[in-house]
Amino acid sequence: MSDFDVVVIGAGPGGYVAAIRCAQLGLKTACIDRWVGKNGKPAVGGTCLNVGCIPSKALLNSSERYEEMRLHAADHGINSGDVSIDVEKMLDRKDKIVLELTDGISALFKSNKIVFYAGHGCLVEAGTVRVSSEDQDDQTLTAKHVILASGSQPVQLPGMAVDNKTIFDSSGALEFPTVPKTLGIIGAGVIGLELGSVWRRLGAEVVILEAAQSLLGSADSMIAREAKKQFSRQGLDIRLGCKVTQVDNTENGCSVHYLDGENNESIGVERLIVAVGRRPVTDGLLDSNCGVALDDNGAVLVDADCATAIPGVWAIGDAVRGPMLAHKASEEGIAVAERIAVGSSHIDHAIIPWVIYTHPEIAWVGATEEELKAQEIPYTVGLFPFAASGRAKAVDATDGFIKILAGRDSDQILGAHMIGSQVSELINEAVLAMSMEASAEDLARTVHAHPTLAEAVHEAALAAHGRAIHKVNR
Ligand code: FAD
Ligand code: NAD
Repeated sequence: MSDFDVVVIGAGPGGYVAAIRCAQLGLKTACIDRWVGKNGKPAVGGTCLNVGCIPSKALLNSSERYEEMRLHAADHGINSGDVSIDVEKMLDRKDKIVLELTDGISALFKSNKIVFYAGHGCLVEAGTVRVSSEDQDDQTLTAKHVILASGSQPVQLPGMAVDNKTIFDSSGALEFPTVPKTLGIIGAGVIGLELGSVWRRLGAEVVILEAAQSLLGSADSMIAREAKKQFSRQGLDIRLGCKVTQVDNTENGCSVHYLDGENNESIGVERLIVAVGRRPVTDGLLDSNCGVALDDNGAVLVDADCATAIPGVWAIGDAVRGPMLAHKASEEGIAVAERIAVGSSHIDHAIIPWVIYTHPEIAWVGATEEELKAQEIPYTVGLFPFAASGRAKAVDATDGFIKILAGRDSDQILGAHMIGSQVSELINEAVLAMSMEASAEDLARTVHAHPTLAEAVHEAALAAHGRAIHKVNR
C-alpha cells in the first residue's frame, strides 16, 4: 500500500493549490518544498508569495502612494509638506505581508491534513519520491500519483553574473536597501516594467535596455504604443532594439555596453537588474531512470491535460509549457487534482488573462487585433477611453482605454485589451464573458453600476456596435 494517494513536489501557487484540492477531494496528500524564507525557516508559497507576485505588488503599492503624495495630493487640496520614503520600513511591510501569507498557506496545509516535508524532492520512478534535507536522512515516499510543480527561476545572461550587490535578479531587486541614483534594467518585459516603475517612483533614474524592436510584443499593438507613450512621459527611459553585449564592474556600479542597431553604446549605472525571462526549474527533480522527459525549453513534457508520458506522473505551472503565471499554475493544479480524483476537468488555455501592474495597469485576454488579422477572422472593434468616464475623472484615472474585439458575424467576444487604472480588476469581467462565450451584445445589455470604471467596459461593448453613449461613434 502507498504512503499517500498524491505527493506534490513544489509548494508554489501550482503545487500548494493542487495539494489543497487533492485533500478536499479526499485524497491522502503530501507536499514537499525546499524553499527557506528570510527568517531561515521552511516557507511555502513558492516564487509567487516569497519573491514574485505578492512582494512586487507590495512595493508597487508603496511606491505608488509615495508618488501620489509627492505629485498629486496638492491637486486635491492636500498639503503633505516634504514627503520622504523610509526604504527599510517599506521593505519590512513587504516582508510582513509575505510572512503572513506563507504562514497562512502552512495553516491551510494543517487544516486540510496535508503532510508537509521541508526538503528537496526527486522523482525516483512512477510512484516513488525521495526527500532529502540537510537535517535528516533521506526519506522515501510512495504515492499513487506524483505532481511535479517545481516552478521557474530567472534566466541569467553569460558574463553578467548576478551578485545581488551590483547586478541583481528580480529577487534581489525587491531588496534594495536604498534607492539607487541610477538603475539599468536589461529587458522591458513584465518584471523590467514593474520593478523599473517601483524604483523610478522612489527617485531612481531608470534606463531599460530592450533587445526587441517593439515594447510588449505579445500585447495588442495599440495597447503597447499607449504604454510606451505613458511610460516615457513618466520618465522611464526605454531604449528599444538595444542588445546588451557586456557588463563591466566599475568603482560606482557597472558599465553596461550594448549594441543599438549597428552602434556600440554604453551607460554607467549604480545598479543593474537582469530581467530577460524565466526558465523551468528541474535540477535534481528527475532521477535519470524515471522516464519523464523534458522539452526543448527544459520544461517537463506534458500533454494538454498536464500528464507526462509516465502514468501517474503529472506536471503543472511554470515547470511546463504555457505562460508563467500564478493563476495558470493554480488552475492547472486544480484540474490535475480533479483528473486524479474524478477522472476529468477542464481549463481553457485560450482564456488566461495577463496583467502588468504598472501605472497605468495593462491587461488583456484572448486574441489581439494583429492575431485576428493574421488568422483572417473578420472582427469589429469597440473602443472606449477612460477620459470619457465620469468615475475616471473623479478619481484622476483618465489615462488609457478599453478595447473589445468581437467576431463580425458571430459578435462573440474574441479578445479584450485594457490600459488604465484598475484594469487588473476589470479584465476579469471580460474573462468571465469569454468563458461564457458571451457576445458584445450580451455585455452591452448587462447593467453596470454607476459611477464605476467598469462602465468603460460596458461602453466599449456598446462601441463595438457603434452605439457608445458617452463618446462620438465613428
Ligand atoms: P513556483 O512559484 O516557482 O514554485 C515552485 C516551488 O517548487 C518553489 O517553492 C520551489 O522551492 C519548489 N521546488 C522546486 N524544485 C523542487 C524540488 N526538487 N524539491 C522541492 N521543492 C522544489 N505571476 C502572476 O500571475 N502575477 C504576478 O503579478 C506575478 N508577478 C511576478 C513578479 C515577479 C518578480 C516574479 C519573479 C514572478 C511573478 N509572477 C507573477 C510569476 C509567478 O510567480 C509564477 O508564475 C508562479 O509562482 C508559478 O507557480 P509554480 O507553482 O509553478 O512555481
Ligand atoms: P519577459 O519574458 O516578460 O521579458 C523579458 C524581456 O527581455 C523581453 O522583452 C525580451 O525581449 C528581453 N530580452 C531578452 N534578452 C535580452 C537581452 N539580451 N538584452 C535586452 N533585452 C533582452 O520576462 P521577465 O520580465 O523576466 O518576467 C519573467 C516572467 O515572469 C514573465 O514572462 C511572466 O511570466 C512572469 N511575471 C509575471 C508578472 C505578472 O503577471 N504581472 C510579473 C512579473 C513576472
